[in-house]
Amino acid sequence: MAVFETIGVSEHEQVVYCHNKEAGLKAIIAIHNSTLGPALGGLRMWPYASEADALEDVLRLSRGMTYKAAVAGLNLGGGKAVIIGDPRSDKSEVLFRAFGRFIDSMNGRYITAEDVGIDVNDMEFVFQETNNCVGVHQVHGGSGDPSPFTAYGTLQGIRAALQRRFENEEIGQYSYAVQGVGHVGMELVKLLRQHNAKVFVTDINDEAVAAAVDLGCEAVGLDDIFDVDADVFSPTALGAVINEQTIPRFRFKIVCGAANNQLANDQCGDELEKRGIVYAPDYAVNAGGLMNVSIEFEGYNRERVERMMRTIYYSVSKIFQIADRDGIPSWRAADRMAEERIAAIGKLKGPFMGRAHRFPGRERNAPISH
Ligand code: NAD
Repeated sequence: MAVFETIGVSEHEQVVYCHNKEAGLKAIIAIHNSTLGPALGGLRMWPYASEADALEDVLRLSRGMTYKAAVAGLNLGGGKAVIIGDPRSDKSEVLFRAFGRFIDSMNGRYITAEDVGIDVNDMEFVFQETNNCVGVHQVHGGSGDPSPFTAYGTLQGIRAALQRRFENEEIGQYSYAVQGVGHVGMELVKLLRQHNAKVFVTDINDEAVAAAVDLGCEAVGLDDIFDVDADVFSPTALGAVINEQTIPRFRFKIVCGAANNQLANDQCGDELEKRGIVYAPDYAVNAGGLMNVSIEFEGYNRERVERMMRTIYYSVSKIFQIADRDGIPSWRAADRMAEERIAAIGKLKGPFMGRAHRFPGRERNAPISH
């Protein structure tokens, strides 16, 4: 595969192949854009069928992180890493320490975190070799489970979407269909119920559904969730649930949830717009997880996290403003907002502001002292 050809199109800055035969490490780190700051993004471990699949995944995911961080207003760039291997059988101390040493060699250009196939114990080994990782255990100043914050951030996104659709953001006055009551979904349902909202839920896990019913929610079938007569649809389980089959069934006025990659394709985003359904772009709504770990670097503090989560209201509102300004659907406006911020902040760094500057020739030509 011609890597330069590929990254020429995707506009990645750097792709690093990391290899340690003894440790069994084959990893790829991709930095998409570091204009706003160090590239932060999770480490995924997956038994990729081919090297090309691993590269494709890391390029796609790192690009997504650039946009997520930029829209969230964070001073972070977009990056991601993948280890080629089976998380059930190929994990070891030496593997993660070998990977940690490569991260350290990048001098802070890339900061890693947990993603699919990686848990806090693996991060512990990475952390032995580098400080440039987040999502470490709380005993090391880590941030812990991000789900309650992601749910709180999602609620801010819902408020912004209600404001756009109804010019009223009283959570309790509307009804909700929540697909998936796992870590984030259950916390979201609790918040909605605190406002006495009418909430419909579904999940493949019957115990989770029963727990939500105990909170006062109404259970519906797995496929019936798309037909529910509710104001807001909140996908909080799987990707690609907004697709050609489901959209015609929607009576929802708003789609706003925490799941990643909700739109099966861009046309589905356009279709929601055409039907007058307000779509709050997923990566702006679910930025709470990223915000939560980003604060680890500055010293973790719960109040600071909650304050940051509330900014999701403003970022989602700004996306809608850009959509109006440019006459484009919200999913496209989110990308535009990210690109505009990166361009503006990038220019800000242009003028020389008097920090120490290296003149290599000066050192080379300095008289040799005897
Ligand atoms: P989770 O695994 O705890 O919860 C997912 C829930 O969805 C589970 O209860 C599962 O049983 C259910 N589910 C699976 N298939 C289903 C189906 N077909 N229909 C209905 N329910 C189904 O995961 P989570 O951490 O709560 O994350 C939920 C989503 O939010 C994911 O898409 C995740 O990528 C995204 N997200 C999570 C965070 C976070 O902080 N945890 C941050 C950003 C984005």
